[in-house]
This record gives sequence, structure tokens and C-alpha cells, in this order.
Amino acid sequence: MSKKDYYEILGINRDASEDEIKKAYRKLAMKYHPDRNPDSASAEEKFKEVKEAYEILSDAQKRSAYDEYGHAGVEGQAGAGGFGAGGFGNFADAFGGIFDEIFGGRGGGGGGHSRAYRGADLRYDLEITLEQAAQGAETKIRIPTMEACETCHGSGAKPGTQPTVCPVCKGSGQIRLQQGFFSIQQTCHQCHGTGRYIADPCPDCNGNGRIRSHKTLTVKIPAGVDEGTRIRLSGEGEHGGNGGPPGDLFVQLHLKPHPVFTRDHGDLHCEMPISITTAALGGEIEVPTLEGAAKISIPAETQSGRAFRLRGKGIRPMRSHTRGDLFCHVVVETPVKLTERQKELLRELEDISCGNDTHHPRAKSWMEKVKDFFGT
Ligand SMILES: [Zn+2]
Ligand SMILES: [Zn+2]
Repeated sequence: MSKKDYYEILGINRDASEDEIKKAYRKLAMKYHPDRNPDSASAEEKFKEVKEAYEILSDAQKRSAYDEYGHAGVEGQAGAGGFGAGGFGNFADAFGGIFDEIFGGRGGGGGGHSRAYRGADLRYDLEITLEQAAQGAETKIRIPTMEACETCHGSGAKPGTQPTVCPVCKGSGQIRLQQGFFSIQQTCHQCHGTGRYIADPCPDCNGNGRIRSHKTLTVKIPAGVDEGTRIRLSGEGEHGGNGGPPGDLFVQLHLKPHPVFTRDHGDLHCEMPISITTAALGGEIEVPTLEGAAKISIPAETQSGRAFRLRGKGIRPMRSHTRGDLFCHVVVETPVKLTERQKELLRELEDISCGNDTHHPRAKSWMEKVKDFFGT
């Protein structure tokens, strides 16, 4: 199949909403549909491309895999079923799922019974510390969920009564509508696709069969995760319908700002204030790392902005074999709240340095540039 960018094929932005994806697909699918372009091979090719792009981007899970890994992340997942040579079936069939969605139904179109559908995927945003991201962690999250109602044991009918067959759809959960030249199936508005009718709803769940509740889940955070990493908890999404499987829960990780370090993939950066004296004469100072303090020797004549690299003291990103480095950026700090005696010593230093540019090479070169600039 094509290796073109799916977003490009549909002509949408990477942050397009589900609605925008659906709209773009509908427009292009109508345009390139083989029924409308019977002898055009290029239209057929385009139609397949559009269909493939939609299959991936309309599925939250596949879309995120595609966003992260490109085509490699969704290989073999699109185009299943596809189209046989020449045999495109009728117009309504070719559109399958999307008409159900457009017209408010759920699940596939065909068949006389309401089909099982998979529950929706859910997303949970979780903030973690840099240390947790670096070393991995295990944490618990509490999420809202729907549990089977204890009063009616999930049937939705008042205890002592039973649900009956829906009189509108005769239990199929679907009704057939004529729309122009093709007919479509729509989910039954009376029973919302369940095919059952509840005359006396359970008072505790209002006939839903499920009630709101909470559940606590354990999330294992692997070492090396970064801002935006998603962890999938399989089967912890919304319940499916009519016996369909549940969706997945995606835990999206966010890094809390760290008081000392900033992170760039595997590397860490921190600022390291040193005194004028240490900067000028050199000395040993202590710097923080994720594993505790380390010592760095500062050579004499160190300037502000110089970075010292501690190899392997960064983070090992997921799917990487090497740890990043820690960069300590020197900031030479101007002393404040000086006593008279300290000021006196500084003035004395200035007096005996005065007129000798060699002590301040940066100031010297800067002055030369300024002179050039003014042309003097
Ligand atoms: Zn109930
Ligand atoms: Zn019905």
C-alpha cells in the first residue's frame, strides 16, 4: 500500500479532531468512489489511499502508533478486507462503518442483529517527577468507571421484571432507512441498539444496568519515559456493548518541572553558580546528580557560560542503550551585600588591575568590536 503521509492524503493537520478527519474522509471518499469513477484506475488508487488513511487516523490507538512510529507503527493494520478487483459491492457497503457513524449508529451495518462493539479508549493524564521518569516507578491511579448495577444485576429492569424485545426494531437493534438511492441501517432510537425494551426500569440505575463507580489501577512506569509517553492499560477503557470487548486506557505522562534539572531527551542540564574567586582561581565544587552529589574541579580562569559534562549522568531514554550526559553550566555570580572591607578589597583589586587589558580578554575584544562598529 502507499507510503504517503496519511494526514497529507486526507488534507488535514496533524492535530485534526475526529470530526475533521471524518469530514475530510467523507468528502474524498465521495469524490474518488469507484461507483462515480468507473473506468479510472487513478481514482481507484486514490480511493484506497483515502480509505487506508481513514482506517488508521480514525482509530485513536492506531493513530497514536502512526504519530509515534510512522508507517512502521501500523504496518498491516490498514486495508484488511480491502476491495477485490472490480468487485466493490454496492455504495452503502463500501462505506460500511462511516455511514453508521455519520447517521448515529454504532458498529457494523450488515446483519439482522445489533452487533457487538468495542468500548471506547480512554485517556488519563498523569504527572510524574523527573526522578520517576528516569528510574521508572509504580503508581496508583483512581479512575471513574461504570460497574454492573447490583440491584438489577445489570439487566436494567426493576427487580422481579424482565426486559422484553424492543417493539420498534423487533429486537435487532437496527432499523432500515431509505436515503436517496441507497438504504442504510440506523441504530434503533427506542432501544439504542440493545434490542431490548424495559417497561419498568431499575430505580437505582435508571434502566442502564450500570452505575458510576471508581476503580484503582496500578500503572507501571518504565525507566526512561519522557513528556508525552503513553502507557496502555489493555482492557481498562470503556465497556464494550452487546458483549463486545472493552477499550483500552491510555495513561499520558507529563513531567513536572524539576527544581534543578531540565531535560533534553537523555541529557540533563543544570545551572551552577560559582563565586568570582572560584572562577578566577579554580577550585572543587559539588554538583547534584540524580544519584546524589558529585565533585567537579573548576579550572582557574573559568568564564560564565562554560559547561562541564558529566558523562553518563543523564537519563537512559526508553529503547536506548546509552545514558545521556549531565551538563553543568557555570554562572559566575556577582557578590552582593558587601561589607566596607570587602568593597575596599575589590577597589584595591581594580586599582592594581587598571589599564591592563590582559586580565579581561573578553572586555578587550568587545571594546575592539565596538570601535570597529563606530569606525573610530
Ligand atoms: Zn439497576
Ligand atoms: Zn429497538
